[in-house]
Amino acid sequence: MQGYDYDLFVIGGGSGGVRAARMSAGFGARVGLAERDRLGGTCVIRGCVPKKLLVYAAHVREELEDAAGYGWSIDGARFSWPQLIANKDREIVRLEGVYRNLLEKAGVTIHAAHARLLDPHTMEVGAQRFTAQHILIATGGRPFVPAIPGHELGFTSNEAFHLPELPRRIAILGGGYIAVEFAGIFNGLGCEVTLAYRGPEFLRGFDDDVRHFLHAEMEKKGIRILLNAPPAALTKRGDGAIEVALDRGGSLTADGVMFATGRVPNTERLGLEAAGVQLTRDGAVYVDGYSRTNVPHIHAVGDVTHRLQLTPVAIREGAAVAQTLFGGRPTEADHADVPTAVFSQPPIGTVGLTEAQALATYRAIDVYKTDFRPMKHTLSGRDERTLMKLVVDTASQRVVGAHMVGTDAPEIIQAIGIAVKAKLTKADFDATVGIHPTAAEEFVTLREKVTRRGEG
Ligand code: NDP
Repeated sequence: MQGYDYDLFVIGGGSGGVRAARMSAGFGARVGLAERDRLGGTCVIRGCVPKKLLVYAAHVREELEDAAGYGWSIDGARFSWPQLIANKDREIVRLEGVYRNLLEKAGVTIHAAHARLLDPHTMEVGAQRFTAQHILIATGGRPFVPAIPGHELGFTSNEAFHLPELPRRIAILGGGYIAVEFAGIFNGLGCEVTLAYRGPEFLRGFDDDVRHFLHAEMEKKGIRILLNAPPAALTKRGDGAIEVALDRGGSLTADGVMFATGRVPNTERLGLEAAGVQLTRDGAVYVDGYSRTNVPHIHAVGDVTHRLQLTPVAIREGAAVAQTLFGGRPTEADHADVPTAVFSQPPIGTVGLTEAQALATYRAIDVYKTDFRPMKHTLSGRDERTLMKLVVDTASQRVVGAHMVGTDAPEIIQAIGIAVKAKLTKADFDATVGIHPTAAEEFVTLREKVTRRGEG
């Protein structure tokens, strides 16, 4: 590989690119990485990490309210958005430094510049040119905003982390992960929140019970949810407020409007055409199971590809590419039974198949379900419930799906994910002794089932 400047050149310093770069360097490869923005990518800079910090902040309000039931009176509690944002920013700067250190210690050469392919092995990186034997596209994605009139009056998750002040009334357009997570954040921090989704129920693709249950819990917390309500236009009124006209009639008024209408891959200005790299119809980089594009020495991982848009998945994909190219072990990224969470309030944790997916896959399924008031809320008095659900293939008795809405759902489902991935049966769950008193113990004591006929 000596004819090239680098053995591997990574474009994009987010979760997937950084993991691939570090691991490849660890295997002895000469690695360069270009990042035109901040190291860490969407997850660290304007995604998972700052979002989770805001979720914690929003939840404090309920903790303060719940304290009364436990004998505490807390007077004079006040919230400062600028203080929260400053503290959050400090943590993000720290994490960015951690990413830089990890790369430098691994021996990766970092270029703080935009990179563009000139031909299948040559990149222009800022004012310089480099050649590389292998190239990894890990440029991630960015928010998509529909081109409706007045769309420029709204903001996206990118700006949500730096609003100069919290709007009193906020409209969130969309019904995916980001929409429901920010609805919970802004509601917890004291804004009046309306979520307007274009379809019949938000979180399309999640288990239907989970969707309806979260919907009801969010409404109990005071979030207004409008369904079948696609946005048509935004206009600024004389008093500064923004009016969102809805496509099927009606409108809503807010002081801030957030678009959470999906994300698109960053494939522009990369010279992908010059290198002959094929894209999917949605503009994502098309890859095979080894994250290889149609050009065999060019790979792509993470949100720029057409697969699951989740940080831990991008990291696995990046690791698999390093392993394949320099570790001497061709490795496919495994996308089966990936657990995921929505940090709504209350949060969702889910792994495996939804009830509908299982019905389409198996001849018959057993569904076990429970919903209950968590012990904490006996004294707090809060009207919040928890939902747990297991989906089992009747024939093999394998647990093929586990779903939860409630406090700690992401933490609990991470562990349940091991059991689902290991293809354990309902009897294995039943043989496990619960930890009392927890909510999680319900997953090993579910007894009442409903059997449904499937199409599989
Ligand atoms: P999603 O794809 O999850 O949701 C996009 C939402 O916008 C959907 O409800 C979609 O409706 C709606 N929408 C799309 N286009 C329009 C339009 N033109 N007009 C009105 N509504 C529209 O995207 P997000 O941006 O919420 O998140 C992107 C991805 O990032 C997620 O899928 C997830 O993989 C990842 N993510 C993960 C998180 C986590 O792990 N906790 C947190 C945040 C993001 P419809 O359903 O009808 O298509």
